[in-house]
Amino acid sequence: MKIKKGDTVEVISGDDKGARGTVHTAMPAEGRVVVSGVNMIKKHQRRTGNVRTQAGIIEREAPVRVQNVALVCPHCNKPTRVGYQLGADGAKSRVCRKCGEVID
Ligand SMILES: [Zn+2]
Repeated sequence: MKIKKGDTVEVISGDDKGARGTVHTAMPAEGRVVVSGVNMIKKHQRRTGNVRTQAGIIEREAPVRVQNVALVCPHCNKPTRVGYQLGADGAKSRVCRKCGEVID
């Protein structure tokens, strides 16, 4: 996946279009990411057993499809597509297609 935990992303389609947040969970198997403050859903939480859980309606983020977000380049601060570049040591780096800077 081109997007990793800790990346800043911008939503490019759907109800939260234009919203930005930090990826706090990447789910490569599902092709989804959880982005802080994006795609908030209300969940009805019931008290279960003896475990002390918060009851009532809680808000939490639902995963969004990775196709619906774009990586925000830390250099030019724009949502961008990601390219790859091979370094001298053979390691792959992500590159911003807009400004050409290496992202990580
Ligand atoms: Zn850039």
